[in-house]
Order: sequence, then structure tokens, then C-alpha cells
Amino acid sequence: MSENSKYDVIAIGGGSGGLAMVQRAAEYGKRCAVIEAGRLGGTCVNVGCVPKKVMWYAAHQAHALEDAAAYGFDVNLNGHDWEALRRSRDAYVARLNGIYAGNLERKNINVFKGFGRITGPGRITVDDRELSADCVVLATGGYPVIPDIPGAELGMTSDDFFNTLHSRPRRVGIVGSGYIATELAGVFRALGSEVTIFVRFDSVLRSFDPMLQEKLLAQMEQDGIRVVSNATPSCLERNEDGLTLVTRDGRRHSEMDELVWAIGRAPNVGGLGLADVGIETDDRGFIQTDKFQETSLAGTFAIGDITGREALTPVAIAAGRRLSDRLFGGMPGRYLDYQTIATAIFTHPPIGTVGLSEPQARAQYPDQQVRVYTSEFVPMYYALMERKVRASMKLITVGEEERVVGCHVIGDGADEMMQGFAVAIRMGACKRDFDDTIAIHPTSAEELVTMR
Ligand code: FAD
Ligand code: NDP
Repeated sequence: MSENSKYDVIAIGGGSGGLAMVQRAAEYGKRCAVIEAGRLGGTCVNVGCVPKKVMWYAAHQAHALEDAAAYGFDVNLNGHDWEALRRSRDAYVARLNGIYAGNLERKNINVFKGFGRITGPGRITVDDRELSADCVVLATGGYPVIPDIPGAELGMTSDDFFNTLHSRPRRVGIVGSGYIATELAGVFRALGSEVTIFVRFDSVLRSFDPMLQEKLLAQMEQDGIRVVSNATPSCLERNEDGLTLVTRDGRRHSEMDELVWAIGRAPNVGGLGLADVGIETDDRGFIQTDKFQETSLAGTFAIGDITGREALTPVAIAAGRRLSDRLFGGMPGRYLDYQTIATAIFTHPPIGTVGLSEPQARAQYPDQQVRVYTSEFVPMYYALMERKVRASMKLITVGEEERVVGCHVIGDGADEMMQGFAVAIRMGACKRDFDDTIAIHPTSAEELVTMR
């Protein structure tokens, strides 16, 4: 192996986590390389957060156009050009790919295009080339799951939504009840599709606070999104009038032009060589690490979606940066604390949430210690029009000092609202601190500091 093939750090996977890790390591003067089989930026940039948020903005625009007359505009709407939107969105993503490549070049980080495999402690192959490093970081992310049922290949995944969907389907089915199902339902509906969501139980976003589930379901209904409960798919068929989803109870749900599987993601571990080098995974294939992100093979670390923890871009980035800070930045105790991570779900309206749901708080603390504050209202934006999109908020406190352990908001602006409240909650803010904070008026966020 030549001197040139030796690095301080190599990341397999050039997505959110891998890039964050090597870029921080390079800032500490380390010689770094990243191996990427696909496009730089990974899921988030190419088929996740970024193009998704563009679509969310498009849907938001559709609602704003609908509301414009209430504010005195005489709008003549001549339709929506999905393909034009897709072209500008993809051009933006391509610009980002270029910016990422430029950043890596400026930091002297070598990029190897190809499929990485770990062959021993500190040893990696990229296709037929051998590399070595003192520190190896596995950051290969995940891929969308397709159910193992007849005809599943007739449906599409979120990857296909971004990579191959060139026109708006008139009628679309979405299977799943999580982030992607609810976000894509809102986008399709706002842009004019007839949307049906198929859920296995009777709700969406079941791991979130019940208030968020209930209010989102009500809003979906108001927006004309059909939710079919107790619908576990058993087969997908194509006939002359489109797709038919057959559920386990024998019901046939027909007349769909497209169907999207949004039932979770699995780890990208195939071909990585984990078992050969003794890297432990759980029964679903997610790589197990200690709190310092180290795997069962010393000197080999795993970060991001591949570890099966919160599958969010800022989590992957934070894990990567903290790892570099600890290994190379003179911060020996630094690691990522996975508690109290705020998240937004880009539904219509959006959801912002941080901390414990009410059931989680009641499971962790005696009932009499848990106090819940709620508020529901129609934001002023809707005062002049018939379309009303309500906002709902919930604060959960525990103990005599009423420490805030959960904050949940559904309503316009919730996505932007939650970052600041997450700081306060991480710092241990109590209800009294919220009460003592003077409101910003007129906003929706002010409700969070005026709850009684
Ligand atoms: P990834 O970003 O997936 O990067 C892994 C990279 O590794 C990929 O580029 C892949 O090609 C490469 N790779 C895999 N195997 C190999 C190999 N053997 N050799 C070389 N390269 C390999 N998160 C948010 O925080 N906010 C959002 O709004 C949001 N929206 C999302 C919307 C969608 C539709 C999806 C699917 C995800 C969304 N996420 C969002 C989640 C976010 O995209 C992921 O949590 C994040 O990308 C994880 O980063 P990662 O580095 O772990 O993996
Ligand atoms: P999620 O984990 O959010 O939701 C998937 C849901 O699908 C499950 O919770 C489950 O809900 C249901 N499900 C599972 N298996 C089946 C099945 N066989 N048939 C029918 N339904 C099934 O996964 P997503 O794919 O939506 O997203 C993957 C991850 O990407 C998210 O967890 C999130 O971390 C990240 N993401 C983040 C976003 C953001 O930050 N805004 C946006 C998009 C994705 P139930 O038990 O109710 O059936």
C-alpha cells in the first residue's frame, strides 16, 4: 500500500454525518478522505430534507395563492407546472452537490467515488483499491423499505418521488403513518392530487404526542386527505384503472395512479463487510456503538442513520462533529447526548416538537407531578378568510418547580418556533421562566409564554 493511500480519517459515506466528520477533522489538520458511492451530500441533499423542503414551499405557495383573494388580490391561476418545479429543484440540488465538492477540495479532503468496504482494523477497499486510516467512520445511512408482498415493485419510494416522478399524479395512495407519509400527503394534496393515506392502526405519527396526532388528522380531513385505518397491505395490483391495494382484511382500495411506500428505512450495510471484521449490528442491521460512537471494532466508529438512533440530519452532523472534536480537537469527554432533540415535521401546517410526549412524561413521573398546559386558536392570518387552519400547543411540566419537559406545537410557524424553545428546555427552563418572558405580539409563538 503506497503512502498516498494512508489517511488519518476515512469516512465511508459522503452524506450528512460522514462529510461533517471529515470536514471537522480536516479543520484540525488531519489528512482525510471520504468514499461515496452516489452523489455527495447523501440522502438529505439529494432525496431528503432539501428537495422535500422545496416541495413543501411549493405546497405552501399553493395555499397562499388560495388565500390571496382574502387580502384583496385578484389572482388568475393558470395551473401548476410540476415539471418546471422539478427542474428548478433539481438544478438547486446539483448546485449544492458542486458546492459540497468545492468545500471538500478546499479542505484537501480526497473523494473516492465508489463502494467502500471495511476489510480489517483501519483497512478499507473502494472497489479494487486499498486504503488505510487510523480512524474509520461508517456513515452509510439508509434506504427506503419496500414491503415483502406481491406487486410491491409497482409502488414507488421517496427516492423515486424525487428521482423519477415527472408529473403530478391525479390520484395517489401513500402507505405509512410517519414523517414521509404525512409530509408527502400534504405536498400532493396542496398541489392538487387526490390523496389517500393507508395506516396500519388508526392514527398517524403514533410516536408523537397524541395532541399532534389528533390535530393533524383533523386538518388532513379538512384538507380532503382520506385516511384509511387498519390497512395493512397484502398485495398491490395494476389493472386498467390504475393501482389497487389489497389489505390483509381483504378490502380492495382501487383507482390510484401512483402509490408511495413510506414505511420506514433500513440501514445501508449490505456489502460493507461488517460481519467479517466483527462489527456488531442489531437484529435489523443497525450498527451498535457506545456513547462515543465507537463500534465493537476498536478505531471504527459509526454515525448517523446507520446507528438506528434519531434519523435526522442535524443528529448525524452533530455526532460527526463531536466525534472529531473528541478525537482530534482536545475535547476528550465530548459525545452526542441523544436526549431532548427537537424535530419538525413539514406537514401542512407544520409540527415542531421537543422533549417528552404526555404519555412518556406520565410513564416516567408520578401522575401528580405532571402538569399539562394547552392552547388552541386560529392564527390571525386566517381572520380574513373562510379557510381556517387552527394551531394547537401543549407544554408538559414536571415537579413542583414545573420544569418543562415537553413542548409540542402544530400550526403555521411551528417549525421555526421550536429551535429557541429547545434551547430553553435543554437549559432546564421552568414554566415560571416561560411566564416571565415577555411575549412578542402579534404572533402565534406568544401563546407559549402566556399559557395558564
Ligand atoms: P446519508 O445522508 O444517507 O448518507 C449516506 C451516504 O452513504 C449516501 O450518500 C450513500 O450513497 C453512501 N453510501 C452508502 N453505502 C456506501 C458504501 N458502501 N460506500 C460508499 N458510499 C456509501 N432529516 C431532517 O433532519 N430534516 C428533514 O426535513 C428530513 N427530511 C427527510 C426527507 C426524506 C424523504 C428522507 C428520506 C429523509 C429525511 N431526513 C430529514 C433524514 C435525513 O436525510 C437523514 O437523517 C440524514 O441524511 C442521515 O445522514 P447520514 O450521513 O447518516 O446518511
Ligand atoms: P417513520 O419511521 O417516520 O414512519 C414509518 C411508519 O410506517 C412506522 O412508524 C409505522 O407506523 C409504519 N409502518 C412500518 N412498517 C409498515 C408496514 N409494513 N406497512 C405499513 N405501515 C408500516 O419512517 P419514514 O419512512 O416516514 O421516514 C424515515 C425517517 O426519516 C424518519 O423516521 C425520520 O427520522 C426521517 N425523516 C425526517 C423528516 C424530518 O425531519 N422532517 C422527514 C422525513 C423523514 P405504524 O406503527 O403507525 O404503522
